[in-house]
Amino acid sequence: MKAALAQLIRTLNARGWSPATSTNYSFIDEQQQCWVSRSGVNKADFTEHDLISIDEKGLGTGLFQGIKPSDETQIHLWIYKNFPDAKVVLHSHGKFPVLISQFNEHLFAVQGYELQKGFKGCKSHLDNLEIPIIENQQDMVVLCQALDERLAEVQHHCFIIAGHGTYAWGDNLFEAQRHLETLDYLCECEFLL
Ligand SMILES: [Zn+2]
Repeated sequence: MKAALAQLIRTLNARGWSPATSTNYSFIDEQQQCWVSRSGVNKADFTEHDLISIDEKGLGTGLFQGIKPSDETQIHLWIYKNFPDAKVVLHSHGKFPVLISQFNEHLFAVQGYELQKGFKGCKSHLDNLEIPIIENQQDMVVLCQALDERLAEVQHHCFIIAGHGTYAWGDNLFEAQRHLETLDYLCECEFLL
């Protein structure tokens, strides 16, 4: 799992989705241990050794005690708490969702694309999908409070943070990647339109 996630992180970086050491990624292993990407690493060079184990507060454990992961780890923990099936969380700074958030307030509404079936539970291109756009915050407590208020609107295993990027998750790496790519693709299509 660690090697597969590290490979995916490098692949997403090659697409330009994690410039300037940005973004973060996590997964929960079979022992229910949460692992998160170390911050400050160039994602083009990311390896499985850059994943650190954390406790429920987001602090490094074991060999990684004293290492503080990214502040955004709190968002990963919020997702795992509220979506117990989630095992992998991916965060992207892909440009198209960021651009969409500059032209849409509160939510990204989309309909009519075959690829929206990439979201688990979406059966038709005719479904009206609404992806929440959350206001960006530097204070993760405030951001997680905003997420609490919008929880019922989070229906498609992802959300956008305005002017910032996306979070997407899944029961496994394959599904989380599919959700992340589906959202990015829909944002690209609607923005180009
Ligand atoms: Zn970010």
